[in-house]
Formats: sequence, C-alpha cells, structure tokens
Amino acid sequence: MAFKSDIEIAQESTMLPVLDVAKELGIPEDYLESYGKYKAKVDYNLLNQKADTPNGKLILVTAINPTPAGEGKTTTSVGLGDALHYLGKKTVIALREPSLGPVFGVKGGAAGGGYAQVVPMEDINLHFTGDFHAIGAANNLIAAMLDNHIQQGNALDIDVRRITWKRCMDMNDRQLRSIVNGLGGKANGTPREDGFDITVASEIMAIMCLSSDIDDFKARVERIIVAYNRSGEPITAGQLKCQGAVGALMKDALKPNLVQTLEHTPAFIHGGPFANIAHGCNSVMATKMALKLGDYVVTEAGFGADLGAEKFIDIKCRLSGLRPEAVVIVATVRALKSHGGVAKADLNKENLEALKKGLPNLLKHVENVTVNFGLPAVVAINKFPTDSEAELAMIEDECKKLGVNVALSEVWEKGGPGGAKLAEEVLRIIDSPKSFNFAYDINMGLKDKITAIATKIYGADGVDFIGSSSADIENIEKIGYRDVPVCMAKTQYSLSDDQKKLGRPSGFRISIRGVKISAGAGFAVALTGDIMTMPGLPKVPSAENIDVDSTGKISGLF
Ligand code: ADP
Ligand code: MG
Repeated sequence: MAFKSDIEIAQESTMLPVLDVAKELGIPEDYLESYGKYKAKVDYNLLNQKADTPNGKLILVTAINPTPAGEGKTTTSVGLGDALHYLGKKTVIALREPSLGPVFGVKGGAAGGGYAQVVPMEDINLHFTGDFHAIGAANNLIAAMLDNHIQQGNALDIDVRRITWKRCMDMNDRQLRSIVNGLGGKANGTPREDGFDITVASEIMAIMCLSSDIDDFKARVERIIVAYNRSGEPITAGQLKCQGAVGALMKDALKPNLVQTLEHTPAFIHGGPFANIAHGCNSVMATKMALKLGDYVVTEAGFGADLGAEKFIDIKCRLSGLRPEAVVIVATVRALKSHGGVAKADLNKENLEALKKGLPNLLKHVENVTVNFGLPAVVAINKFPTDSEAELAMIEDECKKLGVNVALSEVWEKGGPGGAKLAEEVLRIIDSPKSFNFAYDINMGLKDKITAIATKIYGADGVDFIGSSSADIENIEKIGYRDVPVCMAKTQYSLSDDQKKLGRPSGFRISIRGVKISAGAGFAVALTGDIMTMPGLPKVPSAENIDVDSTGKISGLF
C-alpha cells in the first residue's frame, strides 16, 4: 500500500487563520504578533496578565529507547492533542522547534507525521519565525565581544587556551567542527584553536528554554562562563558586558510561537535544545503559557525516557515549578523487536519471540516513571503499517498481565480519532493519586547525583569517574555550582552508556569522562563519551531531495 508523504498530507490541509486559533484560545489581540497568516508570536507578558488563572493539566510524552528513525513521540504528542480536542477538551500542545541540521541530514523534519502534524510544516521545518538565527546571532555576539576583548588588551587576562565559548550555526557542517582562526597578523585577532557548535547546542538555546522572562534570561546570560583567566578563575559573559545586547537580540525570539495542527488544535512551538548536552524540551515560557490557556497540555521530551523524561523532571520541572500529571510512554513494535535482537533490515517482518524479548526495555521505563518519579503512566503503542495484529496484541496483553496501562494509538493513520483510546486512558489516570519525586536531591554532591541517576534510572551497578571528571567536579563545586541539577549526555539507544547494549541491560557501570558547567542554564553536564555538538551530513543528505517550484511550493521535506 502506498502512503502519502507527510508534506503531501500537510499541503492538502486547510489551515485556519492563526488569529482565529488565538481568539478561540482567548489570547487578547494586544499580546499577538502575526508572522504572516498562519504563524504568530505571543508576548510573554501574557503570563503576568494571566498570573491568577488556574493552570491546566500537563501531560508528558516520552518513549522507550528508540531506533535511529525515532519512535513517534512528536507524532503521538500531536495526535494525542488532537484526540483530546476531538473529545471536546480544551487542549494545547507544546513542542520543540526543528533544527535545520536534521532537516537537511538524516532524520528530516520534526513536525509530527502522517495525519498527526503541526502546520505549516514547511515553515516550521525551515527557519520558522527566525528564532534559531536570533540565537545564533546572540551566541556569536558573545564570541565576537570575547575575542575583541583579547584584541583590545585583554584586561581580564583571559587564557586563550581556555576559552570555552564557541561560535555556532544552525547547520550540520563538520568542516567547522575544529578550526584555527584569528590568522593574518596583529590587526586580525589572536590565532587560536576554535570550533563551531550547531545552534541547538548553544547554551543560549538552553537558557532561552529555561528562562521565566526576559529579566531572568539576561541574568542567566550574565552568569555564562565563557573562558578562564590565567589564574584559572572563570570569566563570565557579564564581565564582558554582553547581557544587555544579547537580550535585545533575543527580544522577539523569547516569545512563544503559535501554530495549529491539521485538526486546528493550537500548538506552541518554541525552543529546541539538544537532548544530550542540554535538557531537550521546549521553552518553559511556552509550556506555562499553554497551561494558562488550555485545560490539558501535551508536551514532548527528547530521546527515550531515561534521558528525556529524567531531564524534563529533574531539570525543567525542578527549575520552573512545572509538574506533569500523567506520562505517555511511546513504544513501537519495531523498536521492541530491535531490543529483542532483530537487525534493522528485518524489522518489518513479524517476530513475536523477539518482540517479547524486547519488552523489558519498555517495562524499565514504566518502572522509572511510576516508581521513581511517582507519576501515572500509560504505554502508547504507536502503530506502524508494517506491524502485525499478533504483534500489537502481544504488547497489549503483556502490559495488561503486569497491570501496566496501555492503549493502541493510530494517530499517524487516522489523526485525532485514531488517538481516542489513548486520550481516554490519559483522562482516566490523570487524576489518580501521585507521589511526585525527583531522581535525586539537589543538595547532594555532583558525584552522588550522577550516581543516583545511573543506578536508579539506568539500572547501572555504579559509576566510574574517569578522565578529567573528578577534577572537573572539584572545580565546578569550588566555583559555586554544587547545588545544580545534572544534565546527562549519554547515548539515546541504550539504558547504558554503550549503544549496543539493547533491551534492559544489567551488570553494567556508567563511565563519566568529563563534566562541564553551563552556569547560565544552571546545570552541570556529565559526559559519558564524546558527544558531537556539530554533526555532519550523511553520504546522501535529505537536502538533495528538497526543492521549491516557481509558485513557491516546497517538496521533498519529510
Ligand atoms: P520522535 O519525535 O520520537 O523522534 P517522530 O514523531 O518525529 O519521532 O517520528 C519519526 C518519523 O517516523 C517521522 O518521519 C514520522 O512521520 C514517522 N512515523 C511516526 N509514527 C509513525 C507511524 N505510526 N507509522 C508510520 N510512520 C510513522
Ligand atoms: Mg520528536
């Protein structure tokens, strides 16, 4: 059977003017800025105006450890939002903005899939309202001011070998990963080793997504550590007097973007930090705004629940006061079979034995959400056209046998109505008693926090602090950042730090090779291996298939 592509489905839809979507939500016109007919920014001051409005209920969508294609968290988030809307509930969706890196690389767009998409998908996937370019400019302004400070006499005694701030660009471009710049003699800067990150890996992105307002944003920028001086003391963006101009550049980017789904459910799409060296969730301001406007809010956290949900709870919720009321754990037949040992090429063939063998991966994530975080959870089986009835039934049966809530989701094929069973299950469990818990206490030392995540959430026997990590932690605690949450940078494919250990591994330890401080964002990043912060393009980049015709119609996005 042939299926329509995501972009074909999106282009066949009829969108409502975004002003109508906003009006329906009750956003006063004074707080709205249209970016064309179908996109708008909403002023964050709306949060002050609605300070006394009660919040809606927050639903987090997360997943099992995925295959490289993604298991459909965004698709399920959009579809669940549409399903709640279809059941008559006032619902708002809050998602991340796509980065151009994956759009032109392997993964393609990030606006959902099939009949569960946010639109206009071409715009959302390509530049959108320009937020990421603003972040790039803000990031690079700090870099320019830093190098200029050195050129103009270096009053802060910055050690040019210990500059931690990099330039950035929203593109997969490995050529810029490691560079030498400042060449050409005295008038042309200081020659030094340098490199670019992709914009989503910039600390400015993480800061934008954790800020409560523009004042908080500027205060965080002031705290960013950009380098160390020759006595080993940290140098901040505040010492370079960057925060005012950086705030000015980000004035509009800080406003959440409003769009709609194919079924006209309102969706905020705002911010998109990496899910490894950053926390991987849309902005706090967008989530808070959604909660002021809807009775139910569906949001997504990046990667599997071991990384995404853990950081959503231990970083985003802890720092913002947000609390989810229910969690949806997306599982697919394909990914469970892959956890059961099936090779990528054979994932489309029925294999009940492998499926059963892969289930412990799902069950560990269910245990983390319900026992460790104390939240009600439902497994959403995201149905693919290649799944057999027997396979789908087996997941449902096995979950039910163990008392795990489960619902089949057909939102990719059928949109909102295909998610009705899942939505009903979410509504059934959302008011059940909960004992919300973080994975660790914020007052613990950094080593103890990392160990708590590794043993409780990953199921590791313990942690080995190797390489520079012990010295890094000592330095971070010494300069005053002991009481921050930890942001784990680990493979998304396994519960362990070895991407080949699938299923529910046991008898393993986690190795921490280095720890960095993101003082502006307010977390310490624990690195389990070399984490790529400037990806490259694959042999055949998806960019080769993207085109635009003489009428301005875009094709080839997926
Ligand atoms: P995630 O958010 O978990 O990374 P996405 O929702 O972006 O995953 O989905 C990844 C890809 O898989 C998208 O191209 C999407 O269209 C496709 N996809 C998701 N769910 C289904 C499904 N049920 N059937 C077929 N394709 C799907
Ligand atoms: Mg996604």
